[in-house]
Amino acid sequence: MDRILVLPGDGIGPEVTREARRVLEAVAERHGRKLAFEEGLIGGASIDAAGTPLADDVVELARECGAVLLGAVGGPRWDDMPVDTRPEKGLLRIRKELGLFANLRPATVFPALSGASSLRPEVVEGIDMLVVRELTGGIYFGEPRGRALVEGVREARNTMVYDEVEVRRIGRVAFEAARGRRRHVTHVHKANVLEVSQLWMEVVDELAGDYPDVELHHQLVDSCAMLLVREPARFDVIVTGNLFGDILSDEAAMITGSLGMLPSASLGEGGVGLYEPVHGSAPDIAGQDLANPLATILSAAMLLEHSLAAPEAAAEVRDAVSRVLSDGHRTADLILGGDGEALGCRQMGDRVLEALAAS
Ligand code: NAD
Repeated sequence: MDRILVLPGDGIGPEVTREARRVLEAVAERHGRKLAFEEGLIGGASIDAAGTPLADDVVELARECGAVLLGAVGGPRWDDMPVDTRPEKGLLRIRKELGLFANLRPATVFPALSGASSLRPEVVEGIDMLVVRELTGGIYFGEPRGRALVEGVREARNTMVYDEVEVRRIGRVAFEAARGRRRHVTHVHKANVLEVSQLWMEVVDELAGDYPDVELHHQLVDSCAMLLVREPARFDVIVTGNLFGDILSDEAAMITGSLGMLPSASLGEGGVGLYEPVHGSAPDIAGQDLANPLATILSAAMLLEHSLAAPEAAAEVRDAVSRVLSDGHRTADLILGGDGEALGCRQMGDRVLEALAAS
């Protein structure tokens, strides 16, 4: 029996996680897997009920389950609270408590949605990449950091630091992921000026020896940013540190077009994982059955793949989503120029379930 903790959160979180859960239940049944779902509070919902954005017993439950499906947190109701007690703190805490050092963001263009990208359709065709970003180290956490007044002049500093253990473990995630894909890893760096990047190069090169079946390229971060908009389909797996990954994963995601379609996974040691859509809680459409649940459904597919070791079930979910889109079904956010009839969140979930059942 596999246990999954669902943390719906705020805004559209409860609507989109409900649909993803239905899809998980259906696909598990097809594969004879038994799933046990737990539910917990996070973000504003937890602040209202328990006075904290994430309670200790929810953290404990997350550790026991090992796989967490999260909706989104935040909303205008809690915007005036002090930074330390706001809904987003719940998200930061659970990532930290679960030791999630690897962030995986696939960027795929479903053929039926190629018109949604800001790039020309012939450039977008065939995009299917995965950005693997180191999440717990690098310049966002390095010491010393801070501000100072030096002889009347304001100064600020941050430190980019990685050790080889951190680089090796994120590198392994990338090489392993590439084995389930097109067997190509691009390591993104700035080794012409940064010693930290030179260490990454060395360690990634050493690691490549364990993966002779995977091709490795090193790419400077500035040229990678250009290639992502010029020739995005050339990339398979991109692996990089926290700072470069933060920027490039947003760039890669946005060339696919729609916020409502982007899933993510954050992984820690031993297969523990947190799966969530890239979008926020969308308070402007919350509670109206207007949200697109596909990013969360695709996040559930990542959960099947990475936490439940069920890649075939994951592929079935992705295929079902692809078929629903090629059959012309759209939620409001996917309708360009306002043409066509929009499905609600629940109806879109129904279509995915039907496509699964028909496969
Ligand atoms: P957002 O992603 O919530 O919304 C941006 C726009 O995209 C809105 O117009 C929204 O309606 C639309 N949208 C987003 N997801 C959609 C979906 N699934 N289907 C249809 N339309 C969708 O970003 P925002 O408006 O900047 O932030 C709203 C709240 O969400 C804030 O409180 C913010 O802090 C929080 N937020 C949370 C997360 C998270 O939980 N990981 C991430 C980003 C923002």
